[in-house]
Amino acid sequence: MKRIAILGSTGSIGIQALEVVRSHPEQLEVICLTANSNAELLMEQAKTFNPDCVVIADEEKYTIVRDALAQYPIKVYAGSDALAQVVEQSNIDMVLAAIVGYAGLPSTFNALKSGKAVALANKETLVVAGDLIIKTARENNAPIIPVDSEHSAIFQCLVGEYGPVEKIYLTASGGPFLNHTQNQLRLVTKDDALKHPSWVMGEKITIDCASMMNKGFEVIEAKWLFDLKPEQIEVLVHPQSIVHSMVQLKDGSIKAQLGRTDMKLPIRYAFSFPERWESGDKRLSFDDMRLLEFRQPDTEKFPCLALAYEAMNKGGNVPCILNAANEIAVEAFLNNRLVFTMLPKVLAATMEKHHFIANPTFDDYLNTNKEARRIATEIIRAMA
Ligand code: NDP
Repeated sequence: MKRIAILGSTGSIGIQALEVVRSHPEQLEVICLTANSNAELLMEQAKTFNPDCVVIADEEKYTIVRDALAQYPIKVYAGSDALAQVVEQSNIDMVLAAIVGYAGLPSTFNALKSGKAVALANKETLVVAGDLIIKTARENNAPIIPVDSEHSAIFQCLVGEYGPVEKIYLTASGGPFLNHTQNQLRLVTKDDALKHPSWVMGEKITIDCASMMNKGFEVIEAKWLFDLKPEQIEVLVHPQSIVHSMVQLKDGSIKAQLGRTDMKLPIRYAFSFPERWESGDKRLSFDDMRLLEFRQPDTEKFPCLALAYEAMNKGGNVPCILNAANEIAVEAFLNNRLVFTMLPKVLAATMEKHHFIANPTFDDYLNTNKEARRIATEIIRAMA
């Protein structure tokens, strides 16, 4: 029995993780569930899965959750400190980090610091502070198992391989605007951007997919997870989203992992690794696979991808600046305060304005995140 904490259980990944738990009652036990402010769903999940504790980050919702669960043997905590600390509990074997954005950093960091295995969906954690995260994982013998489908694909391809990787190919669907012209891009709305052609996900990552910022973040994520140089990571647009990513080995052989667009597969693999558990989920049909296309991404049309490479090459606190500016810009776009094509401009301007720190400490990352958000907010205000 693996005892798991699901951080962000009310989100897209969290809900699918609980579906995986439901189909493996002999192997998985839920110890902790957390949400930001969706008290209703958190309470419902708690009643169904009977965890040892739940955490609601929004302290104003504490009494609602506490009163609703008063009849159950479930501890209720609130606030971001509780969220960061709960992962240290000795009855947790694995933490699924599925909070969206920078907010997931403290809990993921603490989980690794206390030697827990982490199933990592929250890619922003590695974008912001990849060096500290990987160092902390190594020092505490805490494995990180990727949940992001591309990184899970690479991780699966590397099982049984001993030699170094020559390069990896991260595949990208290209998002809803793959075939848009620049002029068409200027007119897209939030509703257009939220219609992803192949995956159903939370709002923030869906917008990141539309701008290809998500693929840029995944490049940085891959650098840290697989200890790669930037030139070893190539992005290929693959609109069918069937080949989830590929690894090229030193003899020229290329291994790929294929599957349906269903996050339950990488979530289940992260829970079961090094085993594989049976799944009754629908299988990939070769009838859906008559055509597999691969092409280079257009970084002029999607500058966010180029900005991610730039941030990765500069290193230090620059990826943290990029992530903070992106969170602010995406929020502004979702609130109709920013047009889609201005997103990369906000990111580039914030990266230019923020001061550079070559070897940031944890506190430097905290301060960079705060300051970059302030700068990005100002830039958006000035644009309006
Ligand atoms: P969602 O927006 O659907 O869910 C986010 C979860 O995080 C919710 O439980 C939310 O709680 C919680 N949360 C949000 N803000 C905070 C906060 N400040 N403090 C504490 N909890 C918070 O996101 P996704 O599930 O789509 O994505 C989660 C992570 O997984 C992201 O990093 C994403 O990039 C990554 N990922 C997602 C994929 C997908 O298919 N969805 C695929 C690959 C990676 P509440 O519901 O109360 O707001």
